[in-house]
Amino acid sequence: MEPGSLNDHHRFTGYRRRLIEEIRARGIRDLEILQLFDDVPRHLFLPEGVWNRAYQDAPVPIGYQQTASQPSLQALYLTILHPRAHERVLEIGTGSGFLTALLAKMAERVYSVERIRELSARARKALDALGIMNVALLVGDGTIGWRKYAPFQVVVVSAASPAIPGALLDQLGDPGRMLIPVGSKDAQELVLVRKEEGSVVVEPVRAGCTFVPLLGRFAWRDEIPGGGQ
Ligand code: SAH
Repeated sequence: MEPGSLNDHHRFTGYRRRLIEEIRARGIRDLEILQLFDDVPRHLFLPEGVWNRAYQDAPVPIGYQQTASQPSLQALYLTILHPRAHERVLEIGTGSGFLTALLAKMAERVYSVERIRELSARARKALDALGIMNVALLVGDGTIGWRKYAPFQVVVVSAASPAIPGALLDQLGDPGRMLIPVGSKDAQELVLVRKEEGSVVVEPVRAGCTFVPLLGRFAWRDEIPGGGQ
């Protein structure tokens, strides 16, 4: 079946509704955000071999040792950050591209950086299949951001970082807001960073998250597979 065909889009409708119920049960009540999980078919962003898990509220492996994040956690990201139709978003860690698509439905434009070329290419295919055009993708090291299009009103980091990369803070607009999991490679705390009138406020939002590591110049070095610092 052609990915993105109407038939394909509706194939998992029942499962999508159930997923939305699960996300609701986890405390996400924003109808605009819940609706997005119905509008954007997650399976199209995943390898076909894991389509049977596309509508479970769980992380899913997408190859290259990476995982697509848990949908309810992504819903939490959207609830906290709530990008507006006139805002630009910088996303670090395109991965499957599913969150990219959700962000693109809310924001003016999404600039998303991914270090693994194949994942970025797959995300582009899915976005194209759904006619989502307001996304710019870059293959590279997201710890240095995407200076050309800064400042961004919203910055979304989808991989675990030992600290808040300075370049991302620099490229965050004022006012601006960023969500980033900060901690060790094994466990992180989701942190909300707000820039307001020249000052920066950092506030923990949720403990006990586990993201894949952010690998790059201002996070964990690329060349130490699985090793600590
Ligand atoms: N929101 C995505 C999350 C993917 S996992 C999804 O739900 O699919 C995090 C992604 O960050 C992985 O694809 C990984 O390759 C990428 N990543 C890790 N370090 C990076 C870096 N320095 N720059 C850009 N992407 C990075």
